[in-house]
Amino acid sequence: MPPTTYADLLAERVAQAEAQRGELVAAIEQMRLARSLTFADDEHDPEGSTVSLDQARDVALLVRAEQTLAELRAAQQRLAAGTYGDCEGCGRAIPPERLRARPEARLCVPCSAASGTARRP
Ligand SMILES: [Zn+2]
Repeated sequence: MPPTTYADLLAERVAQAEAQRGELVAAIEQMRLARSLTFADDEHDPEGSTVSLDQARDVALLVRAEQTLAELRAAQQRLAAGTYGDCEGCGRAIPPERLRARPEARLCVPCSAASGTARRP
């Protein structure tokens, strides 16, 4: 197997994020439909609050998937521009192990920690 390039890695993550986004959009749409049918049948349905809680969670996940996609696309643009892997904070090269784990990373670990953008587990 040929070594995985960052371009391959990014393309793979974009495909994953797009698939996830598609699933979430479908789930949200399905829930919206189920909810409207529930309201039509009985507006005092005890499941109603559970459904909207699930929906809120899916919407939050969808927002995150969209953000990830935007970051991945920006990383692909940096790769095309030849600036990929340069930390936007200190200008030094981001270590390859970090880029392998998070190919959309814009900051090295110290800069990321300093700017408080380590918002993902
Ligand atoms: Zn840095």
